Amino acid sequence: MQENIERVAEWIVGAKKVVVFVGAGVSTESGIPDFRSPGGVWDKYDPEDFEFGKFLSSEKARLNYWRMATEMYDSIKNALPNAGHLAIAELEKMGKLDCLITQNIDGLHFKAGNSRELVLELHGTAVYVMCLGCGKKYERDEIQAHFLKEERAPRCEACGGILKPATISFGQAMPEMETAEAYRRSGSCDLFIVVGSSLVVHPAAAMPVVAKRGGAKLVIINRDETAADNIADLVVRDQAGTTMAAVLIQTKRLMAKRGPF
Ligand code: NAD
Repeated sequence: MQENIERVAEWIVGAKKVVVFVGAGVSTESGIPDFRSPGGVWDKYDPEDFEFGKFLSSEKARLNYWRMATEMYDSIKNALPNAGHLAIAELEKMGKLDCLITQNIDGLHFKAGNSRELVLELHGTAVYVMCLGCGKKYERDEIQAHFLKEERAPRCEACGGILKPATISFGQAMPEMETAEAYRRSGSCDLFIVVGSSLVVHPAAAMPVVAKRGGAKLVIINRDETAADNIADLVVRDQAGTTMAAVLIQTKRLMAKRGPF
């Protein structure tokens, strides 16, 4: 274990461009369930009910969606960043983060201290709500308060359009700028670290492959097997929080030993 931590830290110190790529597994230690682990979101809900086409299909489907989304948002709104988020934010402060590509919608990287400029939210965010008609953006808490009072799928006050949490559902277009930038950064980094993702959701899951093709080393830190373990230079099967905290300590040690360049 310690040997793995030391290798990751050495690679971080030696790399010019480090990209960290995270999934729901980095947030389970903050009390937000992932999708695929036992007790995760798919044990409770039918993935089909989260499809964009279904959401658009009827008022009833939208009400159902908002009920499920409200339950999920309950675990997100008061969650605090854990040791994994904090270690990644610290890498940014140390100048060791080219960018953070996140599939998460919980906004915890910002609570941990990462800056907006370095975080690419591939699947949007649950912290805001968007009008699908005119694009007006709302604070999630404001819309939730209305929803809990009225028990009706909310509508835009400006244009009457359909409101949806600003997350990307299955079947919904990926955000163009974030996706293009994430591919570009993946292809041009020299170290790509995956933390807490099963790497089965596409196109996000293609990014480690893009990084490898571009010549980067690939590290995967995940509790269970992932779809890209076979192409990784190093797989660490452990908790995201404790592992990232240990990697951070070792990286700081090495950097202090090397001194200023
Ligand atoms: P996933 O559920 O497919 O995989 C999560 C992986 O994390 C699993 O392989 C699991 O073994 C691992 N894991 C769980 N807890 C861990 C821990 N403490 N330490 C290390 N590994 C841990 O999730 P995914 O790969 O992110 O992809 C699915 C989708 O889930 C994404 O689109 C994302 O938007 C969405 N999602 C996000 C949140 C969130 O924002 N927190 C929560 C649930 C789902």
